[in-house]
Amino acid sequence: MRASISGGDMAELQDRLAPSQPASSDIRSDVDYPIYVVVGSGPVGVRCAQKLLRHSEEAQVVLFGAEAEAPYNRVKLSQYLSDHLTRADLDNPVVSQPESRLAERINQPVTAIDLAAKTVIDATGRVQPYNKLVLATGSTPTLPEIPGITLEHVHTFRSLHDTETLIRLREDNRRICVIGSGALGLEAAAALKTQNNRVVLQSRARLLGGLLEEEAEEYLQSSLAALGVELRIGDPVTALAGGTAVQEVRFASGETLAVDAVVVCTGIQPEITLARACGLATGRGILVSEWLQTSNPDIYAVGECAEFAQQVYQFVRPGYEQVESCAAHICSGPNLQPVANPYAGSLTDIQLKIAHISCALIGAVQHGDQAVEAGTDGGAQRYSYRNRFKGIYRQLLVENDRIVGAVHIGSWDEANRVRQVINEQGAVTARALQQFEEHGHLWQQQTPLGIKEQPDSYLVCQCNAVSKGELCRAISQGKRNLMDLQQATNAGSVCGSCRPLIAELLDMPATNLVMRHARGIFVTSVISLILIALALTMPPAPVSETVQTDWYWQSLWYGSFWKQVSGYSLLGFCLLTASLSLRKRWRSLSYGHVDHWRYVHSVIGCGALVVLVVHTGFRLGENLNLALMLVFLAATTTGALVGVFMARNHHWTDLKLREHRKWWSRVHYILLWTLPALLAYHIMAVYYF
Ligand SMILES: Cc1cc2nc3c(=O)[nH]c(=O)nc-3n(C[C@H](O)[C@H](O)[C@H](O)COP(=O)(O)OP(=O)(O)OC[C@H]3O[C@@H](n4cnc5c(N)ncnc54)[C@H](O)[C@@H]3O)c2cc1C
Repeated sequence: MRASISGGDMAELQDRLAPSQPASSDIRSDVDYPIYVVVGSGPVGVRCAQKLLRHSEEAQVVLFGAEAEAPYNRVKLSQYLSDHLTRADLDNPVVSQPESRLAERINQPVTAIDLAAKTVIDATGRVQPYNKLVLATGSTPTLPEIPGITLEHVHTFRSLHDTETLIRLREDNRRICVIGSGALGLEAAAALKTQNNRVVLQSRARLLGGLLEEEAEEYLQSSLAALGVELRIGDPVTALAGGTAVQEVRFASGETLAVDAVVVCTGIQPEITLARACGLATGRGILVSEWLQTSNPDIYAVGECAEFAQQVYQFVRPGYEQVESCAAHICSGPNLQPVANPYAGSLTDIQLKIAHISCALIGAVQHGDQAVEAGTDGGAQRYSYRNRFKGIYRQLLVENDRIVGAVHIGSWDEANRVRQVINEQGAVTARALQQFEEHGHLWQQQTPLGIKEQPDSYLVCQCNAVSKGELCRAISQGKRNLMDLQQATNAGSVCGSCRPLIAELLDMPATNLVMRHARGIFVTSVISLILIALALTMPPAPVSETVQTDWYWQSLWYGSFWKQVSGYSLLGFCLLTASLSLRKRWRSLSYGHVDHWRYVHSVIGCGALVVLVVHTGFRLGENLNLALMLVFLAATTTGALVGVFMARNHHWTDLKLREHRKWWSRVHYILLWTLPALLAYHIMAVYYF
C-alpha cells in the first residue's frame, strides 16, 4: 500500500529541517517579482498554477508535488484501470511549452511552512520563499480500523502508483474483494472484473452511500451483476486474515471469503498535516474564506483539502471553481478589483465512469445523506421513468416547476441538457414531465416506435393485460423463448397478436407469426366496408307499381314472413359473431386456432351486412330504428377496420399501427354492447305496435 506522509513522518522531517539549516532556493526572495508557491500537483494544484501564470505577467510560480510522476489527471484513473485510456491520456502538464516563470518540483514533498519567514521547506531541505502560498494537498484514503488492514496485498485506489498495482492484480486473474461501495468502489470493482477473475464488491450498507432510492439502486445492482461483479451488501467486514499477505475476508455474519487481494475504497480525508503543523485554522479541512484565504491572509487552500462553509468537496469541479476565485484574488493586488466573483460553494454531480453503465446523480439529489423518501422531498416532486429491459432508470426532482436534481442509471442522451437546465434553474412544463414519465425524455418530439423503447407499464398483451415489465422480469428469470414466456405470463395465449412484440423482446425472428387467413380477412373486411357504404348512401328501394316484375323484392322487404326470416337470421348472425369474443376470453373454449375463428367472424359479419340490406331495403328507418341502424353500421365499420389493420399488420411490430387497431377494437366493443337493448326494443316494437 502506498503511504502518505503521516504525522510521525512529518515530525521527523521537521526535526531534520531545523531552522538552523542553510536556506537554498532557485527562485529567490530578494527580487521584485512576486513568488507564488503551490503545494500539490493534483488536478486542482495544476489548474491553480496555470491560472496564476495566466493572471500575472511577472510572477514566478513554483509547483511542488509529492508523487513520483509528472502531474497527471486523477479523475481519469478509473478509465485507465479499465483499459479505456492509455497512460499518455492521463498527462496533465501545467504548460504545453517551456515556461521560464514556472519551476516544477516533482517528487519533492513540502514538509513544513514557516509562517514568519514566509517560506516552505521541502523534503530535501530546500527552503522556498513565497509571497503567496496555495495549499492544494488534496486527500488521502482512510482505512477502516480492522485487524489485518496492514497485511500485504491490501491496496488503496487513489494514485497512479495504486492504479498500476491494481492493473497487475487484474491481469493475474486474482480473487479480489473491493471494500466500499461509493463511486470509487463501484468504479474499481467494475474495472477490475475480467472474464477470468472473481470480484466481490462488499458494501456495509447501501450503494453510493444511500444516495439512490431503492428502485434506482436495484437497477444499478443489476447492471453491476450483469458485468459479473458479485455484490455482498449489508454484511460489514470485521477482519482481514492471512500470513503476511491477505488470504481471507471475514464478515460480521461469520462468513468468510477467500481472496488474493483486497482493495479498500472506504473514503478519503483531507490532507491537512502541513496546515495543522504550522497553526492554520482547520476543521475537517483547512478553513477558508470566500476568496479561499486561510487564517493566514498570505496562504490559500483549494481543492479537496479546503473546507468552505463547513463543506469539504470530494470532486474536481469545486476545486476548479475555487481556483478561479483564489487565483483572481492573489493576482488582483491590494488596490485592484478581483476579476472573479468570490467563491460561493459548488453544486456537485456524481458521474460514474463504468464501461457500459452510465450513471449520474445531478444537482440537488445528492445533497442529503440518504435518498429522499418516495414521492416528495421537502416540496420537491419526483418524476420517474423506467425501462427494465434496457436497464434504464431516470428520475427528475422538480421544485416549483424547476428541475433541481436528476438521477439516471443507463444511458440518457438528454443528461447534459438536463444538467444545464438544473444549473440555470430553468423551468419545465407539466406536459414535458408527463412525456418524461411516459417515454423517458423531456424534449424529443418523436415517440420511439419499438417495443424495447416503451416503458415497463406498456401493455403488450391486451387480452391478458400483461405489461412489458412483467415480460422482462420473466425473461430475466430465464424464460427465453415464446413458449416459456407464454406459460409464465399468459401473454400471447389468447389472440396471439402480441407475439411479434414478444419475439422482438426476445430478439427472435418472428417470421412464423404471420396471421393465417390474412388475405381472406382482408378481402371480407373490405367487402363489408363497401356494403356499409352502400347501406348508408343508396336510396331506399322503391315500392314498385308493377307488382309482377318486382314481387320477390317487394315481399322480401314488405312481406311479414320474409321480414321475420331475414330479421331472425340477422339476430343469429350477430350471436354467432359474439362467439369470437367468447373464444378469446374463455380459455376452455380454445378449440381451433384463433385465426380460423377470426376468419369465420369476418365472413359472418360480412354475411350479416348482406342480410341487413335484404331486411331493410336500404331504409335507415326512423327514431330508435334509425339509432339501431346507425349503431349497427358503426359497429360493423369499426369491426371491418380492425380486420383490415389486423390483416395488414399482424406480423408487424409497428406500435403506432397496433395503437390504431387497439382503439378501433375498443370502439367496436363499446358499440356492440349497446346493440342488445336497441334490438330488444326493435323486436318489441314490431310485435306490439
Ligand atoms: C480513481 C478516482 C476517480 C475519480 N473520479 C472522479 C470523477 O469522475 N469526478 C470527480 O469530480 N472527481 C473524481 N475523483 C476525485 C478527484 O480526483 C479529486 O476530486 C481531485 O483529484 C482533487 O484534486 P486536488 O488537486 O484537490 O487533490 P489531489 O488530486 O489529491 O492532489 C493533491 C496532490 O497534492 C500532493 N501533496 C499532498 N501533500 C503534499 C505535500 N506536502 N507536498 C507536495 N505535494 C503534496 C498529493 O501527492 C497529490 O498529488 C476521482 C478520484 C479517484 C482517485
